[in-house]
Formats: sequence, C-alpha cells, structure tokens
Amino acid sequence: MTFTRRSAYERIRLLEFDWEGADVNLSDNTNRWGAHPAALAVLRAAGERSLYEYPTPYGERLEAAVARRFGVPVEWVATGCGSDDVLDCALRALGGPGRRLVFVPPTFSMVVSLALANGLEPVAVERSGAFPGAAALLAERPHLVYLCRPENPTGELLPRAVVEELLAVPDGPVVLLDEAYAEFAGESLLSLAGQGSRLVVLRTMSKAYGLAGLRVGYAVGDPSLVREIEKARGPFKVGRLAEEAAVAALESSDDWLARSLGEARENRERLAVRLRELGLQPLPSAANFLLVPVEGSARVLAGALRERGIAVRAFAGLPGIGDAIRVTVAPWPQLERFLVVLEKVLHKRAGGGR
Ligand code: PMP
Repeated sequence: MTFTRRSAYERIRLLEFDWEGADVNLSDNTNRWGAHPAALAVLRAAGERSLYEYPTPYGERLEAAVARRFGVPVEWVATGCGSDDVLDCALRALGGPGRRLVFVPPTFSMVVSLALANGLEPVAVERSGAFPGAAALLAERPHLVYLCRPENPTGELLPRAVVEELLAVPDGPVVLLDEAYAEFAGESLLSLAGQGSRLVVLRTMSKAYGLAGLRVGYAVGDPSLVREIEKARGPFKVGRLAEEAAVAALESSDDWLARSLGEARENRERLAVRLRELGLQPLPSAANFLLVPVEGSARVLAGALRERGIAVRAFAGLPGIGDAIRVTVAPWPQLERFLVVLEKVLHKRAGGGR
C-alpha cells in the first residue's frame, strides 16, 4: 500500500474539522459531560502569576502527578502538548530515515501523517477478520509498531496477547500503544511498560478528563526511551495553567470521572440498541464512541446531519468496513437529538421525502 504525502496540516486544517458551531458535537470523542471540575476550579481561581511565569520546563509537576497516579517512578513519564505531540515526539526520537513503522488499518489517522513527517516508512498490515497476530506484524520487520487500544475509529479492544507477544521477542520493535480511550474501556496495559520494556504507553487528558482545549498528554515507558522522547520534545511545551489544571484533575478525589465514565458506557450500549432499531449495525466498542457502517456515502450522510446541526465524523472506504460514521457518546438528550435527526435523514435517503 502506498500512502499519499498528505500532511497533518492538509488533513486537519483543510479537510476534517467541521464541528465549530454545531448544536451537538459528536465528532471528536471528547467528554461531552464537560471538563473535570477540579481542572475548572484551578482555571477559575487562576491568578496573574500563572500567566506571567513560565511553566515547569518539562512538565515536572505533571510528570510527578502522573507517576503518583500510576505508582511508577517519575523517570518513566514524559509529557507533551496533547498526546498527538507526544506521539510526534516519540516518532521523531525513535524514528528516522529507513526505519519502518507498522500499523493495522483502520487506526488513528494521524499516525501515517506523523510517521511520514518524521521520515519513517509507514507499513500497513492488512487484516482479514480478526486482529493480526504478533507474527504478522513482525514479518514486516518493524522498528516501531503503533497500536491503539481501544482502537479509533472502531472501538475494538485489541487482544492483550498481541502486545505481550511483540514484547516477548528478543530485540523486537518498540511498541507505541495509544491508550487515548483506555479510561472508557476500564482497562490498560500500562503495567507492561517500564524499566527494560519496549512498550511506551501514550495517554491523554483530552478525552475522559474533558481537557482537550488545554492540550495535555503523556507517555509512560522505559526511562531510556522516555528520555529520548523528552529530548525530541524540548522544554516549555505544556502551558502553566494547563499543567496546573491537569495535575488537579489527576489528583482529584472527586467522583466526576467515575460518574461520567459510567454514564458514557451505559449510553454507548443504549445508543447501540437504538441504532440497531434503525437497521444499522454499530461495531462493538470499548470506547466513548460507536462506529456505524452506512450504505452509500458517509460524507454525504454526515453533511446532511451537519446541515441539521449535528456533527459526526465520516469515514470513506475503511478497510473491511466500507463507509461509516463515528458517533461520540454523550449525555442522553444529545444522543436523542442525534437519533431523531438521523432517522429523518435516513428516511429521506430511502425516498421517504422530507
Ligand atoms: N490518539 C487517539 C487514538 C486519538 O483519537 C486522539 C484524538 N483524536 C489522540 C491520540 C490525540 O489526542 P490529544 O492530542 O488531544 O491528546
């Protein structure tokens, strides 16, 4: 498979983002219950000093909060301006010309753009049915393997054994495991990362914690790998207020997170039932979104929804799936609104008039 040299700039700035101003935004898998209240409290109480002083150079306070949160040494943690940035830094640090990054489509679309931008050769391992085993990934002689768990856009929780087998191979590739949605799945492979392991886990404050606007992400892994990621990152990346707010959210004992995760899981299943009643077949998901294969053009369908105030993400020709829309799980009134509009649009498409 060859990849177009479409940069992240072209994809994101010019093509994909159409949610500003939507009445209901179900397009980007952010937390539709809002922002973590502990973070909001920090921002509301912020004084001038948080603006005129620089942040910690490498997000040291945030590193310490992440380390405490997961019970790992602080040397295992790197931070960045969103997990996109952490992924970019990891690819810059661990990639380079002649190095191959293996991934399994469909997956997080940024990975190909970021791999190409960092001189890596992206190599897709196609799947037919089940997720490919470690042997199929290793057959492509990767230096790096990117995996996403739960997967975006499908919501699939890829088998833990694939990661364990990749890590068990002597002198095998570094495995970058994107756990942007792990909180929604209620499980993580972070315990496989650390001293002597080739697993680097990427996490974000953008999704479950509802802090996408602040841009905070982090990586947990072996200290020598993490140090290289930090060298590629450079100093003063995470803003001072973003760091303060993220630390407060990570350290909070508020049950907001547990409540919104619980409701998201409940609404995900409720939404799946309703979509099936409309004759659709959403894929099983461990994340806060559902991928819904559609007949005809997903872009046209998403356009019709957008005209009626609802933003979802359209995917064209996903391997093994075809066209699909991805719908973020939200508080029920927003989903009800989406369902009402979707039903009308589908009815109209089927020739049922307006
Ligand atoms: N990884 C995955 C799988 C994602 O879906 C996203 C957001 N769309 C990111 C990483 C990036 O998140 P952020 O940069 O906001 O941390």
